[in-house]
Amino acid sequence: MNKKDLRSLSLDELKNAAEDCGEKTYRGSQVYEWLHKRCADGLDEMTNVPKSFRNRISEDYELYDLEVIKVLRDEEDGTCKFLLKTVDDNVIESVLMKYEHGFSACISSQVGCRMGCSFCASTIGGRIRDLTAGEMAEQIYAMQKSENVRISNIVVMGTGEPFDNYDSFVRFYEIITGKEGQNISGRNITVSTCGIVEKIRELADRHFALTLAISLHAPYDELRKKIMPVANRYSIEEIMDACDYFFERTGRRVTFEYSLISEVNDSRECAERLAKLLKGKNSHVNLIPVNPVKERDYKRSGQENISAFKKLLEKNGINVTIRRGMGKNIDAACGQLRRSYIKGEL
Ligand code: SAH
Repeated sequence: MNKKDLRSLSLDELKNAAEDCGEKTYRGSQVYEWLHKRCADGLDEMTNVPKSFRNRISEDYELYDLEVIKVLRDEEDGTCKFLLKTVDDNVIESVLMKYEHGFSACISSQVGCRMGCSFCASTIGGRIRDLTAGEMAEQIYAMQKSENVRISNIVVMGTGEPFDNYDSFVRFYEIITGKEGQNISGRNITVSTCGIVEKIRELADRHFALTLAISLHAPYDELRKKIMPVANRYSIEEIMDACDYFFERTGRRVTFEYSLISEVNDSRECAERLAKLLKGKNSHVNLIPVNPVKERDYKRSGQENISAFKKLLEKNGINVTIRRGMGKNIDAACGQLRRSYIKGEL
């Protein structure tokens, strides 16, 4: 990683790079198309671009490719979990899910995570580094090529906190939705955050058409602080204000994720407080039965509790779904596969 990641450049930056090399700007567009429309792995593939220009580019840039080192398939539901190796020998994970309407990808935004949520495997070894925008896009390209499919939906819900790597996330969004590349609709993209308030507001001002998901997991600060250290930085009230602002600016309703952990946040009282918090808001609640992580002793709520929790919210007029557990047979909880690999269990 001595040089910068060519795949992270915007179209305009590549056009400027071409000009700087004494080439016409369309040469920059050609390279961009090779990278983001045709998902090329190397400059050698770009046969219609003059060799001299390719050589000049490679003086300053390289491609932070991802190598597929393992694919785990859940034969029951078709979910594929990918272990990918970065150019500096880190391992990240991405997931490909098949739905009736097409393929959806869950991608990582960082190598590891420093948010410290107590139920999450991704944060156990801390944050190693941010992923570049190009590496986020490359997760999509690598999975498409490996399985010979076209991905139409993306959730940025893998390892990492996207708003702790905000600039790269924004760059990734612009690349992946760009018509000169994959042209994936912003409406089909969801970004999930543990609630970094300043970035929620910054994103709102960009008017992207994406869906914002907030990992709430508790209806009041005292409880949230017990399971999510980030709650010491931002109160639920501040998060709610930022979400209202997001809705005002974009007209897009916010999703609230709530992982149900037995005897931690699944009581009737919690459901009532959550209902009160969200009442009258244009929102959606996604209940996720917690995926037990080996290193933690959290248990999933019982089916009855989950249904009762859901019913109480519905009675209060709140949109709620229970997340379909996909890839259960293949270590699907965030960061678990990567952990198993690092520990030498795979
Ligand atoms: N850092 C971002 C995105 C990554 S996690 C965020 O906090 O939103 C994606 C979602 O999965 C988050 O809602 C996260 O809290 C949740 N999650 C993490 N580990 C989990 C587990 N073991 N069981 C259920 N949900 C989990």
